[in-house]
Amino acid sequence: MISDSPFTLSHDSKLDDLLQANKLWAQQMNHVHPSLFPEFNGKGQQPHTLFIGCSDSRYNETCLGVLPGEVFTWKTVANICSHKDLSFKATLEFAIRCLKVNKVVICGHTDCGGIKTCLTHQREPLRENKCEHLHEYLQDIDDLYHENKSSLKRYTDLTSQSKYLSQCNVARQFNRVMENETVQEAVQEGILAVYGLLYNVDSGLLEKVTSN
Ligand SMILES: [Zn+2]
Repeated sequence: MISDSPFTLSHDSKLDDLLQANKLWAQQMNHVHPSLFPEFNGKGQQPHTLFIGCSDSRYNETCLGVLPGEVFTWKTVANICSHKDLSFKATLEFAIRCLKVNKVVICGHTDCGGIKTCLTHQREPLRENKCEHLHEYLQDIDDLYHENKSSLKRYTDLTSQSKYLSQCNVARQFNRVMENETVQEAVQEGILAVYGLLYNVDSGLLEKVTSN
């Protein structure tokens, strides 16, 4: 039996619904944390962590139990970190050099759409379905899939295969983060830790994949 939806908004929601939901949220936040907006968020930010995750709707930095103001966030499909991506490099510079975070979390997740697309050979059709940019973008995940094809044979069902590939992807993107010049400098100075984690969408729990 599926219980009533716990969600706030839906496809039917309009602007008024969004604004009303926001008002309620702000009231609740003020009630639970009266000093958060006026005394902390309103006076600037000093985030301790940069959270890099997939754009998936089921998780974000709040899985760490944090409040607004604690974590600087960058989310992108399948949490791909590419040296060619200006957004990736700019985010690392802003977070580490300007905001002085002392932790970078690269966090993938189970049941990742980008990973399952490559795993189930659904990437090619994207080209014919007006998703040519997504097709091109997922090249990195397709490469990851082909590189790990033999190890995947150990897993018999799609759920465990996709979880394994998500773990491989965290390790792959973790290495890219570690290769970044800004990150390398901070790590050498001893002022930055980098963690590779996996979020389980069916339990809300994180598990460690790798760290520096
Ligand atoms: Zn994903």
